[in-house]
Amino acid sequence: MTPIGYRVLIDSNMGLKLFNTLTRSVEEFVPRDPDGKSAGMYCCGPTVHNFAHIGNFRTFVFADLLRRYLEFKGYQVNHVMNITDVEDKIIAGARASGLSLPEYIRQYEEAFWEDSRTLGCLAPHQAPHATEHIPQIIGLIERLLARGLAYQASDGSVYFSIDKYRARGSCYGQLVNLNFDEMRVGERVNADEYDKESLADFALWKARVPEDAAIYWSSPWGEGRPGWHIECSAMSMQLLGPSFDLHLGGEDLIFPHHEDEIAQSEGAGLQIPGERFVKYWLHAAHLLVEGNKMSKSLGNFFTLRDLLAKGFSGREIRYVLLTAHYRSSFNFTFDSLAGARTALGRLDDCLAKLHDIAGNASAASDAVLLAEFSAAMDEDLNISAAWGSIFNWVRDTNRLLARNQVSPSLAAAALSAWQSIEKVLGIGEKPPTEAPPEIVALLEQRQFARKAKDFKRADSIREELKAMGWVIEDTPQGPRLKRGGNAA
Ligand SMILES: [Zn+2]
Repeated sequence: MTPIGYRVLIDSNMGLKLFNTLTRSVEEFVPRDPDGKSAGMYCCGPTVHNFAHIGNFRTFVFADLLRRYLEFKGYQVNHVMNITDVEDKIIAGARASGLSLPEYIRQYEEAFWEDSRTLGCLAPHQAPHATEHIPQIIGLIERLLARGLAYQASDGSVYFSIDKYRARGSCYGQLVNLNFDEMRVGERVNADEYDKESLADFALWKARVPEDAAIYWSSPWGEGRPGWHIECSAMSMQLLGPSFDLHLGGEDLIFPHHEDEIAQSEGAGLQIPGERFVKYWLHAAHLLVEGNKMSKSLGNFFTLRDLLAKGFSGREIRYVLLTAHYRSSFNFTFDSLAGARTALGRLDDCLAKLHDIAGNASAASDAVLLAEFSAAMDEDLNISAAWGSIFNWVRDTNRLLARNQVSPSLAAAALSAWQSIEKVLGIGEKPPTEAPPEIVALLEQRQFARKAKDFKRADSIREELKAMGWVIEDTPQGPRLKRGGNAA
């Protein structure tokens, strides 16, 4: 804890460093805005063909953390996340369900937003849908055709020509190293998802096939639908301009999705000379569950809903997702969820005690706590170090509390700093303890016994509650019930 009045100046516009996949190095974040105030950020959103799983949410929680931290640093962020609502998997899913595309999408999109809120993610400022941007997508493909970088093949689909793009001196393979010697020249890929071995011209517009049923739009090239990659290029440039600051996604999107986005967006040549499509590319690493890649056959595939059904809260799951650095592959386990409950409990207890002491006192934020937190986060969002500083502070605070050395103004200063930090972490307040009525009744009997100075009876009720799993904490505001004690 810091003495009141102590100040560390934090220059909020200095210091944030991020790992840029484009340069494969940690760089200082300098937004394109000449005033250095605003930042445009695009994160590839969910493909709404199912309930999002916990691995998907690692990326979205990471995007939420970065957006919140940029705001903490004083940037005005424009956070865009698309909803992919037409793509191979969706069409297959809609057909299998027998629902229309909008009906099929709606159920999973609503579930996605509900899950995001449960995990404490702020809603993006804009959430464009691919199907609402068909004219922009067609316009972008027309531009690529006009510039000689795309062609219509005999199957009626329009493809991006990697050869033509490279012949102009542009680099295909900026985010990943690609071996063009092994490339099967002249081959084309129509699927939305493919791997580096299938490196080939990719579809911008897919001609209608019988399997598409009623899912198609008219275009200058006949009926069909957009390829997945062009959707993100069209929507991001429409909403953030042809050049913007940050593009995020899971590492599985680096190739081909993000590589193709660069080729299409820079191939269209809408940027000011010397400017890139995206200045910083950030990718969240894979999530393992119980040590393995999630898979239904291993029984370690979990949607958020599966975890909630097991009794964990969105707050606990968010905490676990926020314990590891976004670039390290992270092993999500049930032990870590149990650990989250303990860690958050320690934090909540400490904060509750500070609230009791602070009362109505007010004070400037504890500058050291804030400085330690932002020093860690400035290093490419080093969240583990940030939590380390928070839990050191909890430990130190608990020591001072045990010695009754926390004044109301000291408590207020700590709480004020915590409020700023919490805005970044987004773990929210401890949910109110809802003790069942019989427990509350016992507590009232204990208070009655204490008032009557029947301390023996009061103590025996305390023991009785403890055996039932509830601990009484006496605070200046009166007794408080807390989960704990001896019950299983
Ligand atoms: Zn995307």
